[in-house]
Amino acid sequence: MERRLGIYIHIPFCIRKCAYCDFYSITATELRADYVNALISQIKAFRMAAKNYLVDSVYIGGGTPSMLSGEEMTRILSALRMTFHLSDDVEISMEANPGTLDGEKLAAYREAGVNRLSLGLQSADNTELQKLSRIHTRQDFEASFLLARLEGFQNINIDLMYALPGQTGEKLADTLSYAISLNPEHISFYGLKIEPETPFGRDPDIQMEIPDEDEQYHMYLTSAKTLESAGYPQYEISNFAKVGKECRHNLKYWKCEEYLSFGPAAYSFFDGKMFSYIKDVERYLMTPTDSHALFDEMSVPSKEELATQFVMVGFRLRRGINIAEYNARFDDDFEARYREKIKPFLARKYMVQTKEGYRLSRRGMLISNYILSEILEF
Ligand code: SF4
Repeated sequence: MERRLGIYIHIPFCIRKCAYCDFYSITATELRADYVNALISQIKAFRMAAKNYLVDSVYIGGGTPSMLSGEEMTRILSALRMTFHLSDDVEISMEANPGTLDGEKLAAYREAGVNRLSLGLQSADNTELQKLSRIHTRQDFEASFLLARLEGFQNINIDLMYALPGQTGEKLADTLSYAISLNPEHISFYGLKIEPETPFGRDPDIQMEIPDEDEQYHMYLTSAKTLESAGYPQYEISNFAKVGKECRHNLKYWKCEEYLSFGPAAYSFFDGKMFSYIKDVERYLMTPTDSHALFDEMSVPSKEELATQFVMVGFRLRRGINIAEYNARFDDDFEARYREKIKPFLARKYMVQTKEGYRLSRRGMLISNYILSEILEF
């Protein structure tokens, strides 16, 4: 029987680093052509392993994948089609940044098979965008969004952020209503996290400007309500979508399903193994087909470890944990294992009992890390 698989392809190039970003990406774009060739070799090296799988989602992320030309994207996706069996309705998502797009590129991406775009807006306020060191303005974003529609993209996500330095509830509400007015199919809504190894992490003045915990709490709850009443039900802690437009690929992470990744710094859960590759483009270019040389971490998780992972990521979903699914998949008794630990969170309304199991309430989602650390004891 064919097993379903998601594929992630990492494009680690950016025009410049945003001040808050700790994703693995570099600005040495002269390596781009070699990188595309290396990716293609790595994909083709999986020909034998690919045999038992049907790929129903592909996600091209970064970095800034829209720094690739239409021809480069076509070559990568052709290599994928030659190596893997892609389902007829495969979802092929690609992240793109305004300021790197034009009509010709968008048409080529569509032609290559990309059928879902994820566009980074983050904020509709130009001062906030400047502070984040984004390369685009609200006007650039709008031009890219409309161009994508014109080129036939009918499934578009807009990425937004809250808890930005100096951001007020009013400015955030303006960003939300602007994004909603464009009528995308999906909206991602992440809180800014200050990572130590970033310009924001090294700047105490910026940290002073971040809305405090109470404000962030209020921002999250108010925005989630705004999005839901505008026709975007929440399906994950940070993701909202029109019905049927949830991101198929990202759902695989939260359902603990298999995904295979290509490129440096990418994580996989494939054929019973969990592994990540080194965060080093130059080393990746030297041995793209030698997985062992590229491994940063590799483990074969036990059934118990997978069950824990399932609970950890499953609670990110609005629907929460389905007990029957958990018990069948891991040959375990969810209630016996977790009921006592869940009780206090039910009493304090951080968790809710559903027909199938348990889920976090929206208040619970805000402290999900704490709740999970208590339940899973880590
Ligand atoms: S464009 Fe995205 S990946 Fe690149 S630096 Fe900015 S946030 Fe990071």
